[in-house]
Order: sequence, then structure tokens, then C-alpha cells
Amino acid sequence: MSYKVIVNATLAKFSASHFLKEPFQCSRLHGHNYYISVEVEASLDENYIVVDFIELKEKIKIIAQSLDHRVLIPELSSDLAISETSESIEVVTNTNKRYVFPKIDVILLPLPATTSELLAKFVHDKIKEIYPNKRITIKLEETKNTIAVYKSN
Ligand SMILES: [Zn+2]
Repeated sequence: MSYKVIVNATLAKFSASHFLKEPFQCSRLHGHNYYISVEVEASLDENYIVVDFIELKEKIKIIAQSLDHRVLIPELSSDLAISETSESIEVVTNTNKRYVFPKIDVILLPLPATTSELLAKFVHDKIKEIYPNKRITIKLEETKNTIAVYKSN
């Protein structure tokens, strides 16, 4: 028997900019207001709960804040050449576009791309680290009509 709790998307929002690989239109730098929904499934614990809602909400907020108002750069991309100075990060794409960002505006993510699918997995893995024995589902809204989902097996 398993139970599920849901923290819905209105709680955890982040605004960020990114770009995807050519030839998509999305290869131009652009932004989204992302919303994270988290579902946690498990048996009830000794307190008859799946998870402490307050703690879960705090953890989600911390993850959202780490991404908020940043340029998301996928540092494992084979299509980008990324170099750093003490104050800036330079990114050259496979089509020779060159971006230079102040370091403070950027978060380097251990991902091959910043698609919503991989961002959902990134958030999933962070939550899964905290709750390794629970089944986690992340829904990441890029817009109200486009949602990527990643869930534990
Ligand atoms: Zn996008």
C-alpha cells in the first residue's frame, strides 16, 4: 500500500534563461518562468505521514532559489566550449555564437543540455538524495501548456 503527497507548482517557481542546441529556434538565448511540482509516494511512517510537508516545501524552495534569475549552462554539453575567468564565464556554441556572462549570473549544471526533461531529472535527483527510499515524481512546467515529467522507477 502506498500513499502519495503532492506539493504543487504554485509554490516553487523560478525564472531563468537558457538556450538549446541548434537548429531549434530555442538555440537563441531566452527565458521561462518554470514551476516545479513534486509528488512523493511511499508507505506511511510511524507518524502516519509520507513526508513532512513543511520540510519538503523548504527543500523544493531551496532548489528553486538556486536556479532563480540565473542563466542555466549545461556544463556537460559536447556542443559548448565553456571557459572561466575569475569574474566571467564564456560560452562558445557549436555554431560559433559567443556569450560572456558575469559569473554571478550563471549556474553551471551537470547536464548535457538544459531541456525541461533534463531539468526535471536534475530536480528529481536533488529530492531523491533527501528521500532515497521514496518514489519521487517531478513535473516541470516550462509554460502552462508544456510540462516535462521525470519519475523514480
Ligand atoms: Zn526554452
